[in-house]
Amino acid sequence: MSISAVMPTYARTDLVFERGQGAMLYTDDGRSFLDFGAGIAVNALGHAHPHLVEALKLQAEKLWHTSNLYRVAGQEKLAARLVANSFADTMFFCNSGAEAMECALKTARRYHQADGAKDKYRVITARGAFHGRTLATIAAGGQAKHLDGFAPQVDGFDQVAFGNLNEARQTVTPQTAAVVVEPVQGEGGIVVADPEYLKGLRAMADEFGLLLIFDEVQTGMGRTGKLFAHEWSGVTPDIMALAKGLGGGFPVGACLASERAAKFMVAGTHGSTFGGNPLAMATANAVLDVMLEPGFLPHVNAVADKLWAKLTAIVAKHGAVFESVRGKGLMIGLKCKVPNTDVIARLIDHGLLAVGAGDNVVRLLPPLVITDAEVDAAAAIIDRAAASLAT
Ligand SMILES: *Cc1c(COP(=O)(O)O)cnc(C)c1O
Repeated sequence: MSISAVMPTYARTDLVFERGQGAMLYTDDGRSFLDFGAGIAVNALGHAHPHLVEALKLQAEKLWHTSNLYRVAGQEKLAARLVANSFADTMFFCNSGAEAMECALKTARRYHQADGAKDKYRVITARGAFHGRTLATIAAGGQAKHLDGFAPQVDGFDQVAFGNLNEARQTVTPQTAAVVVEPVQGEGGIVVADPEYLKGLRAMADEFGLLLIFDEVQTGMGRTGKLFAHEWSGVTPDIMALAKGLGGGFPVGACLASERAAKFMVAGTHGSTFGGNPLAMATANAVLDVMLEPGFLPHVNAVADKLWAKLTAIVAKHGAVFESVRGKGLMIGLKCKVPNTDVIARLIDHGLLAVGAGDNVVRLLPPLVITDAEVDAAAAIIDRAAASLAT
């Protein structure tokens, strides 16, 4: 046997973490790192946040799982709070971003098909998108490297250039059911959608009777400085996928929808054994407790401003390494001139964790609770790493 016991589907960095505290991670061999990857935008409140630990412990001692054969109090509580703080009227709980997107796509098809439009199933998606790794979501994402070897491709997705409203409009046919975009493309390289583009997609959806789906799996839950990134544009979707930051590290996803979009998602149409179990709901409710505190989002924006100012100066100083800084709030991309993998390796050498993305970008996705001192420390590391790369 030469295959590893863990299926080798990831190109992993050789680090094993033993514990975390706030924005810090500690390895089993005694090294410490400032975590500006946050488990790919998952640990929104950092590691071992006392309120989350307490909520999960309390729930663990009471009840773990009952299935969705019964009412789940934590679901009803979390759903009511998310409804009160979003465009949505209803939501389905699942365990991951891909599942949240699957529910979004199924909801969009059913909206039309249960109403008699049996031939409406196609969804317009954007080039550079990422929506997950299931068969349907790799087809939605349309990236050759994710589709390779997994034919036949799930039918029903028409890909257009991200940001090109004319192309999207020209792609609408009588079979089109929905259009889906990330308000900021994450895996694609931190590409921010112009608010006018999102407005144009909303108008297009309304004109042709399509549903507008936002994949906020990465952008949601305060990451960009609003609870949901689409709030910056003033455009509301009909359906929205959430996951990553929603449970602060506990696996949970959600598909939020307006009453109109979800009107045919009745008993028996969709399900998940684990979705929205009491442990996940206790943790996600605890995340929301913190995020709905009046000072939380102002902190995200203030600390993001400080980080952006530092990064702008670093990019100007190290023009041989970095081309630009882009993104929104604490979802930040450093577009590199040298391979992004070299930059990430050098950042690790200097004690900072970051994440790669498409278009040769280094992603900075720190916990939303980072302090000014941690911003200073991270900026100093990036500065030093860039200096060492330039020589
Ligand atoms: C991470 C991500 C997903 C997939 O989430 P999983 O939990 O890995 O299934 C989907 N959409 C976007 C925008 C993401 O960033």
